[in-house]
Amino acid sequence: MTLLTVTGLHKSFGGVVAARDVSFTVARGEMLAIIGPNGAGKSTVFNMVGGQLGPDRGQVLIDGQDITHASPQARFRGGVGRTFQVAQTFLSMSAAENVQMALISRFRQSRGLWTPARERHRAGAVDLLAQVGMAEAADMPCSALAYGDVKRVELAIALAGQPKLLLMDEPTAGMAPQERAALMDLTASIAASQGIGVLFTEHDMDVVFGHAARVIVLLRGQIIAAGTPDEIRQDPQVRRAYLGD
Ligand code: ADP
Ligand code: MG
Repeated sequence: MTLLTVTGLHKSFGGVVAARDVSFTVARGEMLAIIGPNGAGKSTVFNMVGGQLGPDRGQVLIDGQDITHASPQARFRGGVGRTFQVAQTFLSMSAAENVQMALISRFRQSRGLWTPARERHRAGAVDLLAQVGMAEAADMPCSALAYGDVKRVELAIALAGQPKLLLMDEPTAGMAPQERAALMDLTASIAASQGIGVLFTEHDMDVVFGHAARVIVLLRGQIIAAGTPDEIRQDPQVRRAYLGD
Protein backbone atom coordinates (compact mmCIF):
# COMPACT_ATOMS: atom_id res chain seq x y z
CA MET A 1 0.00 0.00 0.00
CA THR A 2 1.43 3.33 -1.09
CA LEU A 3 1.93 5.82 1.71
CA LEU A 4 3.95 8.63 0.13
CA THR A 5 3.64 9.62 -3.52
CA VAL A 6 6.02 12.25 -4.84
CA THR A 7 5.32 13.36 -8.40
CA GLY A 8 7.41 15.63 -10.62
CA LEU A 9 9.01 17.69 -7.87
CA HIS A 10 11.08 20.52 -9.23
CA LYS A 11 13.11 23.12 -7.40
CA SER A 12 15.69 25.58 -8.59
CA PHE A 13 17.79 28.09 -6.71
CA GLY A 14 18.73 30.87 -9.09
CA GLY A 15 20.33 29.02 -11.97
CA VAL A 16 20.89 25.78 -10.06
CA VAL A 17 18.30 23.06 -10.54
CA ALA A 18 18.42 21.24 -7.20
CA ALA A 19 15.57 18.84 -8.06
CA ARG A 20 14.38 18.00 -11.54
CA ASP A 21 11.16 16.05 -12.10
CA VAL A 22 11.69 13.84 -9.05
CA SER A 23 9.05 11.11 -8.63
CA PHE A 24 8.96 8.15 -6.27
CA THR A 25 6.75 6.35 -3.78
CA VAL A 26 7.20 4.88 -0.29
CA ALA A 27 4.96 2.04 0.87
CA ARG A 28 3.84 1.39 4.43
CA GLY A 29 6.55 -0.38 6.36
CA GLU A 30 9.12 0.27 3.64
CA MET A 31 12.59 1.77 4.09
CA LEU A 32 13.61 3.89 1.09
CA ALA A 33 17.09 5.41 0.90
CA ILE A 34 18.01 8.47 -1.14
CA ILE A 35 21.68 8.53 -2.02
CA GLY A 36 23.89 10.67 -4.19
CA PRO A 37 27.06 12.75 -3.99
CA ASN A 38 27.17 16.07 -2.17
CA GLY A 39 25.02 18.65 -3.90
CA ALA A 40 22.91 15.99 -5.67
CA GLY A 41 19.68 17.36 -4.18
CA LYS A 42 19.00 14.93 -1.32
CA SER A 43 18.27 17.59 1.29
CA THR A 44 16.21 19.58 -1.20
CA VAL A 45 13.96 16.58 -1.88
CA PHE A 46 13.82 15.73 1.81
CA ASN A 47 12.81 19.27 2.73
CA MET A 48 10.10 19.36 0.10
CA VAL A 49 8.60 16.21 1.64
CA GLY A 50 9.00 17.59 5.18
CA GLY A 51 7.57 20.98 4.24
CA GLN A 52 10.62 23.10 5.05
CA LEU A 53 10.86 23.97 1.34
CA GLY A 54 8.11 24.58 -1.21
CA PRO A 55 8.57 23.09 -4.70
CA ASP A 56 8.39 25.14 -7.90
CA ARG A 57 6.31 22.32 -9.41
CA GLY A 58 5.13 18.88 -8.48
CA GLN A 59 3.08 17.19 -5.82
CA VAL A 60 3.49 15.41 -2.48
CA LEU A 61 0.70 13.09 -1.33
CA ILE A 62 0.40 11.25 1.98
CA ASP A 63 -2.29 8.60 2.02
CA GLY A 64 -3.72 10.22 -1.09
CA GLN A 65 -3.93 13.63 0.58
CA ASP A 66 -2.21 16.52 -1.13
CA ILE A 67 0.22 18.09 1.34
CA THR A 68 2.38 19.89 -1.25
CA HIS A 69 1.68 23.27 0.28
CA ALA A 70 1.04 22.26 3.90
CA SER A 71 3.23 23.71 6.66
CA PRO A 72 5.68 21.44 8.49
CA GLN A 73 3.33 21.57 11.52
CA ALA A 74 0.32 20.51 9.45
CA ARG A 75 2.38 17.68 7.94
CA PHE A 76 3.45 16.59 11.40
CA ARG A 77 -0.18 16.35 12.47
CA GLY A 78 -0.88 14.49 9.22
CA GLY A 79 1.72 11.88 10.09
CA VAL A 80 5.02 13.13 8.67
CA GLY A 81 7.59 12.71 11.43
CA ARG A 82 11.25 13.52 11.48
CA THR A 83 14.08 12.49 13.73
CA PHE A 84 15.71 15.40 15.47
CA GLN A 85 18.91 15.36 17.40
CA VAL A 86 18.37 15.66 21.13
CA ALA A 87 19.20 19.32 21.59
CA GLN A 88 22.05 20.29 23.83
CA THR A 89 19.68 21.82 26.39
CA PHE A 90 17.76 18.57 26.77
CA LEU A 91 20.79 16.43 27.45
CA SER A 92 20.46 17.12 31.17
CA MET A 93 16.92 15.73 31.16
CA SER A 94 16.26 12.03 31.51
CA ALA A 95 15.43 9.84 28.54
CA ALA A 96 11.83 9.55 29.78
CA GLU A 97 11.48 13.32 30.24
CA ASN A 98 12.63 13.89 26.66
CA VAL A 99 9.97 11.52 25.35
CA GLN A 100 7.38 12.99 27.74
CA MET A 101 8.06 16.42 26.23
CA ALA A 102 7.34 15.01 22.78
CA LEU A 103 4.10 13.41 24.01
CA ILE A 104 3.03 16.64 25.71
CA SER A 105 3.52 18.58 22.49
CA ARG A 106 1.55 15.98 20.54
CA PHE A 107 -1.33 16.08 23.00
CA ARG A 108 -1.05 19.78 23.77
CA GLN A 109 -4.65 20.50 22.77
CA SER A 110 -5.98 18.08 25.37
CA ARG A 111 -3.72 19.08 28.24
CA GLY A 112 -5.73 19.10 31.47
CA LEU A 113 -5.60 21.90 34.00
CA TRP A 114 -5.00 19.84 37.09
CA THR A 115 -3.10 16.79 36.06
CA PRO A 116 0.55 17.60 35.65
CA ALA A 117 0.96 16.83 31.96
CA ARG A 118 4.38 15.34 32.52
CA GLU A 119 3.19 12.69 34.95
CA ARG A 120 0.32 11.79 32.68
CA HIS A 121 2.72 10.85 29.91
CA ARG A 122 5.20 8.95 32.03
CA ALA A 123 3.80 5.51 31.18
CA GLY A 124 3.55 6.32 27.49
CA ALA A 125 7.13 7.53 27.48
CA VAL A 126 8.44 4.42 29.19
CA ASP A 127 6.49 2.29 26.73
CA LEU A 128 8.09 4.10 23.78
CA LEU A 129 11.52 3.73 25.36
CA ALA A 130 10.84 0.01 25.73
CA GLN A 131 10.11 -0.17 22.00
CA VAL A 132 13.62 1.09 21.28
CA GLY A 133 15.23 -1.06 23.95
CA MET A 134 15.82 1.82 26.36
CA ALA A 135 13.31 1.25 29.17
CA GLU A 136 16.15 0.58 31.58
CA ALA A 137 17.59 4.02 30.91
CA ALA A 138 14.31 5.91 31.41
CA ASP A 139 15.60 7.85 34.40
CA MET A 140 19.14 8.39 33.24
CA PRO A 141 20.10 11.84 31.97
CA CYS A 142 20.72 11.68 28.22
CA SER A 143 24.12 13.23 28.85
CA ALA A 144 25.11 9.98 30.62
CA LEU A 145 24.06 7.74 27.70
CA ALA A 146 26.30 6.36 24.98
CA TYR A 147 25.85 8.14 21.65
CA GLY A 148 24.11 5.15 20.08
CA ASP A 149 21.65 5.10 22.97
CA VAL A 150 20.89 8.80 22.53
CA LYS A 151 20.03 7.97 18.91
CA ARG A 152 17.55 5.38 20.20
CA VAL A 153 15.98 8.01 22.44
CA GLU A 154 15.72 10.27 19.38
CA LEU A 155 13.86 7.49 17.60
CA ALA A 156 11.47 7.15 20.57
CA ILE A 157 10.88 10.92 20.45
CA ALA A 158 10.01 10.66 16.76
CA LEU A 159 7.68 7.71 17.41
CA ALA A 160 5.88 9.77 20.08
CA GLY A 161 4.37 11.76 17.19
CA GLN A 162 2.83 8.55 15.78
CA PRO A 163 4.26 9.10 12.32
CA LYS A 164 3.00 7.32 9.22
CA LEU A 165 6.15 8.45 7.43
CA LEU A 166 9.46 8.98 9.18
CA LEU A 167 12.10 11.20 7.59
CA MET A 168 15.64 10.49 8.76
CA ASP A 169 18.47 12.67 7.49
CA GLU A 170 21.69 10.70 7.94
CA PRO A 171 20.42 8.78 10.99
CA THR A 172 23.73 7.05 11.67
CA ALA A 173 26.08 10.01 11.27
CA GLY A 174 28.70 10.04 13.99
CA MET A 175 28.00 6.47 15.14
CA ALA A 176 30.38 3.53 15.32
CA PRO A 177 29.83 0.93 12.56
CA GLN A 178 28.37 -1.78 14.86
CA GLU A 179 25.96 0.74 16.41
CA ARG A 180 24.81 1.81 12.95
CA ALA A 181 23.59 -1.63 11.96
CA ALA A 182 21.82 -2.07 15.31
CA LEU A 183 19.97 1.25 15.02
CA MET A 184 18.90 0.55 11.45
CA ASP A 185 17.79 -3.01 12.31
CA LEU A 186 15.69 -1.56 15.09
CA THR A 187 14.25 1.12 12.81
CA ALA A 188 13.43 -1.47 10.14
CA SER A 189 11.66 -3.77 12.58
CA ILE A 190 9.60 -0.95 14.10
CA ALA A 191 8.75 0.34 10.61
CA ALA A 192 7.67 -3.11 9.44
CA SER A 193 5.65 -3.98 12.55
CA GLN A 194 3.89 -0.60 12.74
CA GLY A 195 3.56 -0.04 9.00
CA ILE A 196 5.62 3.15 9.11
CA GLY A 197 7.29 4.25 5.87
CA VAL A 198 10.86 5.47 6.31
CA LEU A 199 12.64 7.84 3.93
CA PHE A 200 16.31 8.29 4.76
CA THR A 201 19.52 9.73 3.41
CA GLU A 202 22.79 8.10 4.30
CA HIS A 203 26.46 8.27 3.41
CA ASP A 204 27.37 4.83 4.74
CA MET A 205 26.79 2.43 1.83
CA ASP A 206 26.79 -0.59 4.17
CA VAL A 207 23.80 0.92 5.94
CA VAL A 208 22.09 1.76 2.64
CA PHE A 209 22.60 -1.61 0.99
CA GLY A 210 22.01 -3.54 4.21
CA HIS A 211 18.83 -1.83 5.36
CA ALA A 212 16.96 -0.12 2.53
CA ALA A 213 14.28 -2.09 0.71
CA ARG A 214 14.75 0.24 -2.25
CA VAL A 215 17.26 2.92 -3.14
CA ILE A 216 16.98 5.97 -5.35
CA VAL A 217 20.11 7.62 -6.68
CA LEU A 218 20.18 11.35 -7.30
CA LEU A 219 22.71 13.12 -9.45
CA ARG A 220 22.49 16.85 -10.18
CA GLY A 221 18.89 16.91 -9.04
CA GLN A 222 17.75 13.98 -11.15
CA ILE A 223 16.98 10.38 -10.29
CA ILE A 224 19.48 8.38 -12.35
CA ALA A 225 18.54 4.98 -10.90
CA ALA A 226 15.97 3.40 -8.61
CA GLY A 227 15.70 -0.19 -7.45
CA THR A 228 16.61 -2.78 -4.87
CA PRO A 229 20.07 -2.59 -3.28
CA ASP A 230 21.25 -5.39 -5.60
CA GLU A 231 19.98 -3.63 -8.70
CA ILE A 232 21.58 -0.36 -7.63
CA ARG A 233 24.92 -1.97 -6.81
CA GLN A 234 25.05 -3.50 -10.28
CA ASP A 235 23.83 -0.47 -12.21
CA PRO A 236 26.71 0.61 -14.48
CA GLN A 237 25.58 4.24 -14.56
CA VAL A 238 25.50 4.39 -10.76
CA ARG A 239 28.89 2.74 -10.49
CA ARG A 240 30.38 5.21 -12.92
CA ALA A 241 28.70 8.29 -11.56
CA TYR A 242 28.77 7.62 -7.90
CA LEU A 243 30.25 4.45 -6.51
CA GLY A 244 33.64 5.22 -8.02
CA ASP A 245 34.09 2.87 -10.99
P1 ADP B 1 22.62 17.26 -1.02
O1 ADP B 1 21.76 17.25 0.18
O2 ADP B 1 22.44 16.07 -1.89
O3 ADP B 1 24.06 17.48 -0.70
P2 ADP B 1 21.30 19.77 -1.62
O4 ADP B 1 19.85 19.44 -1.80
O5 ADP B 1 21.70 20.36 -0.33
O6 ADP B 1 22.17 18.49 -1.96
O7 ADP B 1 21.73 20.77 -2.76
C1 ADP B 1 21.45 20.58 -4.15
C2 ADP B 1 21.92 21.80 -4.96
O8 ADP B 1 21.12 22.93 -4.65
C3 ADP B 1 23.35 22.20 -4.64
O9 ADP B 1 23.92 22.68 -5.83
C4 ADP B 1 23.19 23.31 -3.65
O10 ADP B 1 24.27 24.20 -3.70
C5 ADP B 1 21.90 23.97 -4.09
N1 ADP B 1 21.14 24.53 -2.97
C6 ADP B 1 20.55 23.84 -1.98
N2 ADP B 1 19.90 24.65 -1.14
C7 ADP B 1 20.09 25.90 -1.59
C8 ADP B 1 19.66 27.21 -1.15
N3 ADP B 1 18.90 27.37 -0.08
N4 ADP B 1 20.05 28.27 -1.88
C9 ADP B 1 20.82 28.13 -2.99
N5 ADP B 1 21.24 26.93 -3.46
C10 ADP B 1 20.89 25.83 -2.78
MG1 MG C 1 22.25 17.30 2.23
